[in-house]
Amino acid sequence: MVNVCKHCQKQYISATKGYCCPNCKTIDKMRFDQICAYLKNFPNSNAVQVAEALDMKAYTVLKYVDEGTLTFGRGEFEQL
Ligand SMILES: [Zn+2]
Repeated sequence: MVNVCKHCQKQYISATKGYCCPNCKTIDKMRFDQICAYLKNFPNSNAVQVAEALDMKAYTVLKYVDEGTLTFGRGEFEQL
């Protein structure tokens, strides 16, 4: 199926639904670790605050939530 990468916004094909192209696997892991670390320190943050603090797009943060990998703080994200 055709997926859109949450980092470079390019379309790519994979067998299953995904949010990150093969080229962005490294950055994907790095960003995920950064978000988790931030949410540990600031558990009540929303996606916009996280994105600003980590110099990334709120879109990308929300894609992690869509993906289901980021469950920590999910309630706060949904109040946007
Ligand atoms: Zn990508």
